[in-house]
Amino acid sequence: MNTNSIRSSWITAQEDGTEHAVTDVAQEAARDAGDGRYEAECGTVLLAAAMEAAPLHRCARCRTIRRARFRPRELAAPQRRSGWLSRLCHRGRPAERTTGA
Ligand SMILES: [Zn+2]
Repeated sequence: MNTNSIRSSWITAQEDGTEHAVTDVAQEAARDAGDGRYEAECGTVLLAAAMEAAPLHRCARCRTIRRARFRPRELAAPQRRSGWLSRLCHRGRPAERTTGA
């Protein structure tokens, strides 16, 4: 399955106000089950808060999972320049630094 075709929405958990990413497939499963519980991409099972409830923060695990799905190459390996054209275009620029953050 193409991971870029997976769609998800942010849903705020009633329990703690955390906003989690829930795929369309999981939302459909929750509607079919009829119990109002959604399984987020991070594995958390939540009850959706009222629509007017503002989220307190976003789930870090859901953010990481979504980021990895949309940009798997950037997260899997550090960027490096290769090829003569890239070296020519980036000549004279300081070397990339990696930060621990
Ligand atoms: Zn989550």
